[in-house]
Amino acid sequence: MNSYAEIIATIKKYDRIIILRHQNPDPDALGSQAGLATAIRQAFPEKKVLIGGNDTEGLIWLSKAQKVSDGDFAGALVIVCDTANRPRIDDQRFDDGAYLIKIDHHPNDDVYGDQLFVNTDASSCSEIIADLIDNTDDLQLTKEVANYLYAGIVGDTGRFLYPSTTQHTMNVAGKFIALGVDIAAINNKMNEVSLKQAKLQGFIYDILQIDKSGAAMAIIDHDLMDKLNLNQEEANSVVSTPGRLKEVTSWMEAVQKDDGTFRMHLRSQGPIINELAKAHDGGGHPLASGATAQNLDEVKQMFEELIKIVTDFNQKGE
Ligand code: AMP
Repeated sequence: MNSYAEIIATIKKYDRIIILRHQNPDPDALGSQAGLATAIRQAFPEKKVLIGGNDTEGLIWLSKAQKVSDGDFAGALVIVCDTANRPRIDDQRFDDGAYLIKIDHHPNDDVYGDQLFVNTDASSCSEIIADLIDNTDDLQLTKEVANYLYAGIVGDTGRFLYPSTTQHTMNVAGKFIALGVDIAAINNKMNEVSLKQAKLQGFIYDILQIDKSGAAMAIIDHDLMDKLNLNQEEANSVVSTPGRLKEVTSWMEAVQKDDGTFRMHLRSQGPIINELAKAHDGGGHPLASGATAQNLDEVKQMFEELIKIVTDFNQKGE
């Protein structure tokens, strides 16, 4: 683990810096990436700073990636934000640069990079970037930087709902407000859903299977997506919906991908679910993880495993 000062010293050394994040980026991946890029560009206008990866249509309002060529990687510093493991980095040329830094808040299961800064107590990678900037005189927290970082923190804390929200998270958000960030505008933008998504949210409550333990599961397969005219990204966006139910403690949503496999979203308000995700080709935080199920049988098997985790948790009276 490296210090903020060591990371900053490395950033100062390189003329070309490529900042990457994970595939299927969420607001924290994009916010930390673009927030760091903007802070470096503003402090060191002579450096070439590129943000790579594939865009997510619904989040282009927040940040748009740039084209990064093979030549750009040669001799560059590559910084990867918010990405626990190498296979999920949204540009597998990440190792083609001269030097690699990992900055993340997920459990450090895949230790990669020449330097790394991982803080699992941080609500989000965006919070870590705010701390990095706060710990050096070389970078400045401007309003433009804070806009990106605020969106990231809001995204990963479910607008300050999840237990990962700490006093420090609120203090950091308070600094953003002092800089003039329009938090209402960002909150509203992030709260926005299309009518199709709103209909799906309602539908989720109908199709949710709720076990007596408090474990729940919803399957959004191709038939349902066709019926509601939804694409994968729109279907992924309703993952927090079951968490509002009094009857539900931990839940998973299975969203069928084009190749027929299922992208599994796991969420919990107590029982630890990231070991279950890891056992099914995934990973993530103790209370928010993702995985892949090859078919419906594996989806059902994962639900049985979730029921067991929640039942054990209840029995221990945690
Ligand atoms: P998601 O359900 O896609 O919103 O993911 C929830 C959390 O788990 C996020 O912090 C992701 O970065 C993480 N995550 C999702 N899929 C994986 C995976 N295959 N491997 C490791 N972490 C993952």
